[in-house]
Amino acid sequence: MSLDADVAIVGAGPVGTLLAILLGRQGKRVTLIERWPTIYDRPRAVTMDHEVARILATFGIDANNDPAIEYHEELYYWKNADLEDLQIVDWKSVSPSGWRVTYWFNQPELEARLHAIAATFPSIQLIRGWEATALTENNTDVTVCLQETQELVGDNGAEQTLQAKYVVGCDGANSFVRESLGINIIDKGYFFDWLILDMVPHGDYQVSPAQWQLCDPQRPTTLVPGGPGRRRWEFMVKPGESSDEIAKPESAWTLLEPWGLSPDNATLERSAVYRFQARWAEQWRVGRCMIAGDAAHLMPPFAGEGMCAGFRDAVALGWRLNAILEGKLNDTVLDSYVSERIHHARHYIDFSQELGNIICIADPQQAAERDRTMKAALAARNHEPITGDLVHLGPGVWCEDTAAAGELSTQGIVEANGCRDRFDQAVGQGWMVIGLDTDPADALGSQRLRTLRALDGRAIKIGAPGTECDATDVDGTYRNWMTSIKATYFILRPDFYIAATADSTDHLCHRFDEVMEKLSLR
Ligand SMILES: Cc1cc2nc3c(=O)[nH]c(=O)nc-3n(C[C@H](O)[C@H](O)[C@H](O)COP(=O)(O)OP(=O)(O)OC[C@H]3O[C@@H](n4cnc5c(N)ncnc54)[C@H](O)[C@@H]3O)c2cc1C
Repeated sequence: MSLDADVAIVGAGPVGTLLAILLGRQGKRVTLIERWPTIYDRPRAVTMDHEVARILATFGIDANNDPAIEYHEELYYWKNADLEDLQIVDWKSVSPSGWRVTYWFNQPELEARLHAIAATFPSIQLIRGWEATALTENNTDVTVCLQETQELVGDNGAEQTLQAKYVVGCDGANSFVRESLGINIIDKGYFFDWLILDMVPHGDYQVSPAQWQLCDPQRPTTLVPGGPGRRRWEFMVKPGESSDEIAKPESAWTLLEPWGLSPDNATLERSAVYRFQARWAEQWRVGRCMIAGDAAHLMPPFAGEGMCAGFRDAVALGWRLNAILEGKLNDTVLDSYVSERIHHARHYIDFSQELGNIICIADPQQAAERDRTMKAALAARNHEPITGDLVHLGPGVWCEDTAAAGELSTQGIVEANGCRDRFDQAVGQGWMVIGLDTDPADALGSQRLRTLRALDGRAIKIGAPGTECDATDVDGTYRNWMTSIKATYFILRPDFYIAATADSTDHLCHRFDEVMEKLSLR
């Protein structure tokens, strides 16, 4: 065990493991501390959004062609007890960010994939069977006390201390790191209990629609894929019902009967009752220590965004910590991790809670009223499916008064560096100033270019097929998008978010200076 690291990450769940990969692939010395010897195997996340697919693609997981991930070219329906449509959501399209809106997977399998990838980076050390028990910070580093997990070895477990320049608590809902930093939790007190069942049907189990929500006040139910070869059923535990009783296999099979599943034709892989909660930590950074993932925010899974939010945290921390450890940025940039991400995560907490308030109605009269209102709204828009909103970052390293800034960038297919692929794969990732039909290097001038290059940033000219440029806009995605927001330039961050857009050279230089100022580089 090496007892000295650039970053110690407490918790090797999906968020901690992703962060380890993002740091380890840049050569940072990461120690990942995990309490348990194996991956957590209870049913949890099954769906991820296009942004997560975009993140996974940066280290070789292609969600469109991965045996452990699936998508359904179908809409997502909410139906009432009479199976009439109440809401229709577009989960069938490709999002502007270049990946499908929604994918399905099995969380333990995804975690195993992440661990296998992390193991390929020699600077990542995973310590299983140990837990973090105390943190002490001084001016240059943090000391983390570790103890062999008591539940595994009893009272006489070994102890050890570890020094790290930074510590990130990715240690889940009951985070030790959050507690030891004395961070307060804001709790919206949202309590619904749901039974979650992961099923493996034997043979080919086809169901249509593949992804839907049954808003039946008798038993609100979620019916969705669970990754290749699996289906997920989620049943609300009704007021007065016992969570222990309903979690028993015999109750689970009774609930599954109407859906044609029995022990003869399916395996009940995992079953658990969860109490859905909506809460977030008031502060995500204290000095050299940060929190991320479920340690920082918890939301009911109705939007399927909990782990996705944690992955965004990891990416937001990853580029900042890499640059700080390379001496390119001051660690004050970690404050913008907090301001940007708290706002974004809170959007999804509120959104998930709103969905739950509609889905979890158990009173028949309230349900009838809900059905009338939703059916009327659906008819008024001719049953057109709705699409998800673009969610803005909170205030941080982006210019709030330029179009599209603070949003996830659009991504098209380009030809660059001898290949034709999505922009992220063909051109790469990092700070970029991008110009349409014009070379942004000319606009920036030598001094700003030096600043950009000191961040390993690049100036990229995008152009039409047949023109001289760094990246050819093969399908016109960039021309259409930039024309629609009247921009000639945009400044792209390493996390694919837009820092600023500009329509002239002067405007670009001004915005570039503003972004650098926000990074404390001017
Ligand atoms: C029923 C359900 C359905 C869900 N569906 C979705 C979905 O479809 N999509 C989605 O995006 N999200 C979903 N989520 C949320 C998602 O599962 C979580 O957000 C995600 O697992 C959080 O990852 P994490 O790494 O932050 O925390 P965790 O997965 O909880 O990992 C934390 C790790 O830290 C370790 N640890 C804790 N304390 C210590 C310590 N002191 N020392 C060392 N190790 C420690 C733990 O053992 C654990 O391995 C769902 C959740 C539930 C409950």
